[in-house]
Formats: sequence, structure tokens, C-alpha cells
Amino acid sequence: MIKKVFQTLVLFMIPALLPVKGQVIERIDPPSWFTGMKNGALQLMVYGREIGSYDVKTDYPGVEIMTTVRTDNPNYLFVNLNISDEAVPGTVNLIFTRGRQKLAHSYPLLARPAGPARGINSSDVIYLLMPDRFANGDPSNDNVAGMTEQPDRSNPTGRHGGDLKGIEDNLDYLYKLGVTGIWLNPFLENNQQHSSYHGYSTTDFYKSDPRYGSNDDFKSLVTEAHKRGIKVIMDMIFNHIGSFHWWMNDLPSKDWIHQFDEFTRTNYRASTYMDPYAAESDRMLMEKGWFDVTMPDLNQSNPLVETYLIQTSLWWIAFSDLDGIRMDTYSYPQPDMMSRWAKRVTDEFPGFFIVGEVWYDEPAQISYWAYNKKNSDGYRSNLPSVTDFPVCFATHRAFEGKTNPTDGLSKLYNTLSQDYLYPEPLRNVIFLDNHDMTRFFTQTGQSPEAFRLGLSFIMTTRGIPQIYYGTEIVMEGDKSQGDGRLRDDFPGGWPGDARNVFTGAGITSLEKEALDFTTHILNWRKNKEVIHTGKLKHYIPSDGVYVYFRYNCSESVMVIINANSKESRTISGEKYAESLEGFTFGTDIISGRKIDNLQSFTIAPQTAMIIELK
Ligand code: CA
Repeated sequence: MIKKVFQTLVLFMIPALLPVKGQVIERIDPPSWFTGMKNGALQLMVYGREIGSYDVKTDYPGVEIMTTVRTDNPNYLFVNLNISDEAVPGTVNLIFTRGRQKLAHSYPLLARPAGPARGINSSDVIYLLMPDRFANGDPSNDNVAGMTEQPDRSNPTGRHGGDLKGIEDNLDYLYKLGVTGIWLNPFLENNQQHSSYHGYSTTDFYKSDPRYGSNDDFKSLVTEAHKRGIKVIMDMIFNHIGSFHWWMNDLPSKDWIHQFDEFTRTNYRASTYMDPYAAESDRMLMEKGWFDVTMPDLNQSNPLVETYLIQTSLWWIAFSDLDGIRMDTYSYPQPDMMSRWAKRVTDEFPGFFIVGEVWYDEPAQISYWAYNKKNSDGYRSNLPSVTDFPVCFATHRAFEGKTNPTDGLSKLYNTLSQDYLYPEPLRNVIFLDNHDMTRFFTQTGQSPEAFRLGLSFIMTTRGIPQIYYGTEIVMEGDKSQGDGRLRDDFPGGWPGDARNVFTGAGITSLEKEALDFTTHILNWRKNKEVIHTGKLKHYIPSDGVYVYFRYNCSESVMVIINANSKESRTISGEKYAESLEGFTFGTDIISGRKIDNLQSFTIAPQTAMIIELK
């Protein structure tokens, strides 16, 4: 009895400063934050057993704890801080107390990078690449302990071993090719059981997948890219997470994700957001249904979820000195939250580039989300840029060579004629294909001519061109064979590859010609201001020929596209008199040929001319 009293007394007398057995703070997100932010608000998500029953304090100068928020899960505590201008970089000691129990956590406060955001605009050419499939710079990270999926290069939907180092090692290749921006498919941790290579099932918002490298490796890639004048765009997903995200073991709150009695899929009809006649049930399913069985749908209407997501993007921008974000499935999450997100990011980092993936057939639908678009329902997305799918689809029709060429070119002409819907169409990201679509070369019947027409068009019309890795060597990929085949390994990216595009060893003459053509046209475009920002004037296509001009007060470029598969065409300059006036000759930058006579142009079948007028 005495012994027991003594034990109780000892227990009672344990100094309060000792950590409580079994009680740890497992993580705090964001893992660090920054001084010098315009908006000093920061919300920490603190995770640990019963942490919700603790209070928190700090005496760090310039850091004030405003409020704490608790949810229906006692293992989470949300702490609202304000970081004032007086705060300097250092380690913030956070003290969590519950009665006499006390836990300490050192929280890093870093300096925000100095320079302004570089942004991305129509002077850039973006190169989209998939980290798992571009180049394997470090075979030792192909398999990492703790990661579920093992590498399997023979499986089109398996992990192939590409990584951040592989990209960094080949930045000189990209520089030579003439690209000024790279967009990486997501590189955040995707610790899923299978098909984790594509990266769209995030399992940790603050951690690079170790099979690609570390967060610091990403930062290093951005630094090295900047040295070569190449900007970096990070792919983010706010709509959903991977089913093996750490939250799924212990959700921060019951309403953190949208939950149904049984699996409920989205209807993928983002038009329900702007359709004035949309049924509420359809709109609800669009927003709340899951994108896939392995992709739980986040509830962005929960303010804690909103803040968490917004902070992830601010953190990656400040941490890595990023230039842009491509937001996946932009039109799936709650639209008002997405609008507040874009505003918060661009308020904090003026000029920062965000392109939202909005996948619709019609310019009217795309324009709903466009920069400065004033919609009749009052919605404003605050998005700097949108993906121009209608132009992409029109290029397929125009250059596939199967239909009447005039028909196809008219589709292109008609699509662009709807640009009045966009306050600033120059901001649209334009492309021939991407990682989700049959590759353009395959789409157009493996025609090298169609490839050259498509590339000539996309590099000279209005907008921000984006090309998909492998376009420059006319890589093939058919969606009907599965998404994995749209994302084949880039030749030369793996040790021992028989063909190596980086060195030119073993590539075919077809690939070499395509590579030379791409290099030529991208490098020509690089400093051609009239193509970046000049006005566009186009003429009604006729007889399979489409003619347009890019011009400003000092320069003009005439583009002639003959989409006829077999016949040459001779066109009279008279029809284009209003655009040719004042010019006497020109140079076709594709053939290098001087054009002495602007009264008449003869153009070979399936050929484009890009004529700098003098
Ligand atoms: Ca690797």
C-alpha cells in the first residue's frame, strides 16, 4: 500500500518538462515558412496523438499566435499565426502545453527569395516532360525503401526510373533546342501501389517523390534551369489526392474529403459550373464525385482545406524560386476557392504564371476561366492563363490530311475567330498534344509534313506554345493503346539506350530532320518579338491554303500554310494587299529562300512558309 502511494506520488511529481510517453508531434505542415511575405498569415497543421487538446505558445519576436482551430479529429491542431515585418529568419520555438505536459517543436523560418517572379508569357516556349520518362540521371534511386511500387521498365504503366537529375543533366540539350520553359508532370510523392509514375495521385504535398530526388534536388534543378534562361513550371493538383495519402489513415476531419456511401465518380462535366440551366445534382456530382477510385476528392469548401492547399503553392514558389504553376483539373474543385487561390498567389508574387487545365471543346467554355474575363454570372477566375484545347483540336482537323484541307483549315480559322471571347488571347497556352492525348505525329498519320505544318503554326500563331517531350523527334503514341504508351521513355535518357537523342547517336534521319526543324524554328522564335506580342490578321482559307500575318509597327511576318496533300498552290499577293503594303521582299525562314516577288507566291503541297517581310 505504501509502495503504491509512493509510486503515485512519484508519478504526480514527474517534472512537467519531460515529454509525455508516446506523445510526439508527427509533423507540422508547412514544414517551414518565410519572412518577408506581403501577407503574414500562416496556418500550421499540427499532427500528433491528441495534439488537439494542447495549447500552443511562442515568444519568437514578430511571430504571434492568433487563434487555434480544432476539428472532430483530436489528433490535429490548426494554429493561425501572423508573421510580421519584424520577424527575421531563424528557428521558432513552438511550445505545446496540456496541463503540466509540454512538447517543444523547432519551426524553421526562412528568408523569402529576393527577386520578383519571372513569369511565363508568349515570348516563351514551354516543354512538357514527364519526370519518370525523360531521363534516368540516378539509377540508384529507381528503388527506394518505403516506396511501394517497384521499378519495371517493361511495363508501360510501371515506374521507369527517370528523375530530376536526369532533367538537370540535360538542360543544355533543352537550351539548344530553344525552349525557355519546362513544365514537369507532378514530381510530388505518389506512394501508390501501381501506376504511380504519372504523379497525379499526391501522397505528400510537401515532399518530392524520393524516386525523383529530394526537395533540394528540385530546387537545384530550378537554379540550373535559370542559369540557362529556362523557367520552371510545377504541376499541382488541388482536386484530389492519392488514396495512399497519409491523411487517409487518419483524416483531419470527416469532411476533409467528399465521402459517399459507395464509390461515386464525378461526371467530368465542368460545363455545369457555367451552364445557367445545369441541374444542382449534376453540378454537385461534378464538384464532389471522385476523379477515380484511387483519387479521393478534396473538399475545398472546408476553409482548413483551402488554406492548406493555398499554402502548399506559396511554399513551393518561395522554397524553390519557381516561375509557374500548371494546375491540373483546374475546373473540377470548388470554383470560388480556386479563384481565391489564384488571387492569393498572384497578390503575393505579382507576375507569377499559372495556367489552369480547362479541357473543353468550345472557346466559350474555356474563356469562362480566362484572365480578366467578366462573366455574366459574376465569376472571375483570376487565372493568368488557360489551356487552349479548341485550338489543339482544330490543329488535328487542319493537318491530319484525311479531310478536305479547306474544311480543316476553316476549323482553325473559325476557332481563332472566336478570340473576342478572351480579354487577352495571347495568354492562352497552345499545343498540338500533351501527356493525355494521342501524340500529334500519330494523330496526323505519321506524316512528317503534317508535323512541320503543325509546329510552324503553333510557333507563329498567338499564344504561349507548349510542346510535349519527344515532339522534336516525332515520337509516336496512341491513346487507344493506353496512357502509358503516350509517355514512352525518351531515347538516350537511360544508360545503355541504343539510340540517344542527346548525343544524336543512332537516331534515324526522320528523327534528325524533325529535331533540326524544331531547333531551327524555336531558336528563330526566341527573339522574334513580333511573334511574341504582334497582332494577328488572318484571311479566310481557300483552296486548302491559310494565310496570316503577325505584325507590329516595325515588323511583319507572313505565314502561308498549304495543307493540300498533293498539289502546289500559287496565290496572288493582291488578296493580301492590306497586309503586304509597304513591303517589297521577304525571306522564308524555313527554307532560307529570299522571296523577291510579293505579287505571287507558289507553295509546295503540305508546306508552310514563314516569311519575314522587308
Ligand atoms: Ca532514377
